[in-house]
Amino acid sequence: MRIFFVLLWCHLAVSASPAREAEPDKVSRPDVFLITIDTLRADHVHCYGYDRIRTPALDLLAEQGIRFTQAFTPSPVTNSSHTSIMTGLLPSSHGVSDFGVPLAPRYPTLAELLKKGGYRTAAFIGAVILDSKSLAPGLDRGFEYYDNFPEITTTKSRWGRLERRGMEVEQRAESWLNAHPAGAHFVWVHFYDPHDPYEPPPPYSEIYKDRPYDGEIAYADSALGHFLAYLKKQGWYEGSVIVVVGDHGEGLGEHHEDTHGIFLYDSTTHVPLIVKLPEERDAGRTADAQVRTTDIVPTILGLLGVAVPASLDGDSLEPFFTGLEAAPRTVFGETEYPLQFGWAPLRSIRKEGFKFIEAPKPELYDLRADPGESLNHYEPWDGTVQSLRRALAELSAKSPTTGKTLPAAVSASTIDELHALGYLGAADARSATDVPQSSLLPDPKDKIGEQNLLHIAMRASENGEPDKARVALEKVLQLDESSAIALRQLGRIEMASGSYANAAGYLQRAHDANPGDATVAIEYGRALESSGDLSGARDALLASLKLNPDQFEVRLQLGRVYLGLNDTIAAEDQFAAAVLLQPGSSEAQIKLAKALIHQKKFAEAVALLEAVAEPSSRNPEIFELLAQVYASLGRGQDAQRAQLRAKSLQNSKRPQ
Ligand SMILES: [Zn+2]
Repeated sequence: MRIFFVLLWCHLAVSASPAREAEPDKVSRPDVFLITIDTLRADHVHCYGYDRIRTPALDLLAEQGIRFTQAFTPSPVTNSSHTSIMTGLLPSSHGVSDFGVPLAPRYPTLAELLKKGGYRTAAFIGAVILDSKSLAPGLDRGFEYYDNFPEITTTKSRWGRLERRGMEVEQRAESWLNAHPAGAHFVWVHFYDPHDPYEPPPPYSEIYKDRPYDGEIAYADSALGHFLAYLKKQGWYEGSVIVVVGDHGEGLGEHHEDTHGIFLYDSTTHVPLIVKLPEERDAGRTADAQVRTTDIVPTILGLLGVAVPASLDGDSLEPFFTGLEAAPRTVFGETEYPLQFGWAPLRSIRKEGFKFIEAPKPELYDLRADPGESLNHYEPWDGTVQSLRRALAELSAKSPTTGKTLPAAVSASTIDELHALGYLGAADARSATDVPQSSLLPDPKDKIGEQNLLHIAMRASENGEPDKARVALEKVLQLDESSAIALRQLGRIEMASGSYANAAGYLQRAHDANPGDATVAIEYGRALESSGDLSGARDALLASLKLNPDQFEVRLQLGRVYLGLNDTIAAEDQFAAAVLLQPGSSEAQIKLAKALIHQKKFAEAVALLEAVAEPSSRNPEIFELLAQVYASLGRGQDAQRAQLRAKSLQNSKRPQ
């Protein structure tokens, strides 16, 4: 079979044309369908031995394919994990260690490699977390169609704005396939449903009333079932390669972790992995050796006879299909997500029945005797510790991106989306991550209670339940009275509810705890300004500008505060600084002109406004100000002309 594919691939690589392809290609090159199910613990799937759930679609694939009982993700975070699935690289190799970090072009994706071979490629995502325009730049590479979320939505609902239900994702994939039936396909479908909040639709909400997480899994399985039924109806199922994998698991309270992202225990790294081959080859086999999700790319390329890029972190799983190989593979784990909270990142290695976790308080587990990872046997002089630690250090040493990952450039609205999904972004703990050595940061084990509460608070804020969020955040402050994240969130909640003095109180504490954080200082200044304490606002904004002088918005804000304090000279300075930062900003120029007019510096104001008031200028405010200044200078005719221009621009601005 393998040789069959290789020969056909060679033939097609020569004859493939981007134009409509002949039907025989369909027979020769198998379609490849990659299904990722978010937040799916292996031990909550029926064919993985969990008898409290029905997952008929996954069970069917396991019957007709090969089920890997011991598959692990290198990352418990959606973006990093999916990037590893798509590149065959560890996060420390591909560098996508955080939301919004772009995947560097030098790392080819599976979609790129298959598209080059003439495949039609498309991706259908279930959450904005994988949107290539905001939080997952570069993950769309190689997909001729990548089903991002709309850039502007008016809906307040999370559905369609942040998430799509599995059935919607599946329908969108079907629509695309209906419109592009010819040629071999590589289609990636991402079901986000099991991710919290656990809100399965009926009837799963009823059947799994007491276990809504299981209800979401059962629902996602039903969406998968619909997709498989569609493939069968189209006659594409039999001949296709179908890979189903979880991107990571879910803590469900194990090790005190409610969700995922912070720890590297099996609860969040052990995932289901099922590979169905064309014509049900090797159907029903189970492979019990330890494997990795980084093995998926070389497996698919191997099956298609496509050259595998050098230096992948994974290896093809093909030897396991026939039982040729049974040797367990070394599993590495990494998470930098704790850094968003100001806590130490973690690294792990799972090898020969042991797991070692490198942390400020390191951990060693004997997985054969203690699969729940509850008894830490770490001793620095232990031989197993030393050899596993060495292997981790060697991996770090050869990682191309260690310590030089591109910072995530995400907008404020994207950060809001991230919060709505229950995550923190890089901007949330900027100052905390500037420490020279991550081992000096707190161990996440000592902080997990805070993370659970912060997660509850973010969810509650998103659901419009500020009181619930307040309670959770106050509990965080009981654990750590200077938690900048909790103080800032509380400040934001109070700002949103119009309690500006309360907001200023929380933000003052956040500012005192993080005097080096320019963003906290701005938020504090805004709260003070809103509460009417203008001199306090001035000091906070000055503190922020001292840390980072190039903040355009802060310059404008401080200028406005100075005007409120009747200090027009200082206001002029700030607006002039804003104009220097953004010379093209008419907002800054108008504000500067107003400050000049305030001081009766009419000649300067005229010079500035005339420079801005080009014939093409469409802003009536500029001409109104000009009219005012001309009048003050006794230039009546000029004033009249400017006034007329302002009027006509105002009229043309009104909707017809
Ligand atoms: Zn995920």
